[in-house]
Amino acid sequence: MDRRRFIGQTIAGGIWLGRGAAAPQIPLREIAQDASVFIEREEPAQPHKGKVLAAIQPHSDDLPLFAGGTVLKLIKEGYSGILIRTSNDEMAGRGATMGEVVLNNEKDNFEVARRLGLKKIFDLHYRNHEFDAVSPGELRHRLIFIFRLMKVDTVICYDPWGHYEENPDHYVSAQCVEAACWMAGGRWDLPEHFEAGLEPHAVKEKYYFARGPQLVNRVVDISAVIDQKVEVNRANVAQGPAGEEGARLRAQLASKKLRLPILGNDDETANRQYIKHIVLKEDADLGRKYGLQFAEPFHYIGPKEPMLDTYIKENAVPV
Ligand SMILES: [Zn+2]
Repeated sequence: MDRRRFIGQTIAGGIWLGRGAAAPQIPLREIAQDASVFIEREEPAQPHKGKVLAAIQPHSDDLPLFAGGTVLKLIKEGYSGILIRTSNDEMAGRGATMGEVVLNNEKDNFEVARRLGLKKIFDLHYRNHEFDAVSPGELRHRLIFIFRLMKVDTVICYDPWGHYEENPDHYVSAQCVEAACWMAGGRWDLPEHFEAGLEPHAVKEKYYFARGPQLVNRVVDISAVIDQKVEVNRANVAQGPAGEEGARLRAQLASKKLRLPILGNDDETANRQYIKHIVLKEDADLGRKYGLQFAEPFHYIGPKEPMLDTYIKENAVPV
């Protein structure tokens, strides 16, 4: 037996899933068919109308790569949404100076939000790669303020319990988001907010994504929005896969008298197809396991029914 597979299928008795290039020593997408994984399918109506989604990412390329399809789907199904970017993205991407890198990524992030259908951006601008030096309390307080101000119902962000995540920007942001979600509902947390007109408001639903292994309990069908997800990724010019990678690969192969049919016959098609079929290949691989075309995996935490209500429902008898 493949030892890594053994680990993947026995820890927590559940479903573990790898994602992305961050943890290459762990087999990716080790998901077994299991009744505990809920498949969230496309909704024809708008069941989420009136609800507010906060899509949260440390860097401009996180959501587009790992959860862009689900954000697009939820917005299509009625959510209104905001984008919170926690870092200033100063360490990654194009630019002659660090200042230019920050500006280029900031512009890309605006375009990412627009293409995702998110109406407002909160840029927190903490320094890239330095989140283990950020005060968790300060970041948490800023998030609580935004959750109360915007009356956020649902967040989508990195999994604070994802394994083998090496980037402190990812795991510190995720931990602060998780704590802020419930503390935002507390009447003694940051009471000065209430003097300013805000009210306690807890976040009730969470979609957590990860680059490495995580406990997956929800697979979201993104087949209907995959082409839009490609376009969201193309907005990341500074550090994402928006460039000419597809065209370059096509030219390289041609010089060796080879061709990938999937890349088509022109550079523009090659660039799009490169993202759809190579950069986002894991979305197709996961989809195939669940009878879908393209899918994204999450650890989902939903609203909890109060324990007393459940107890009454299960045990009360007519008198
Ligand atoms: Zn990132």
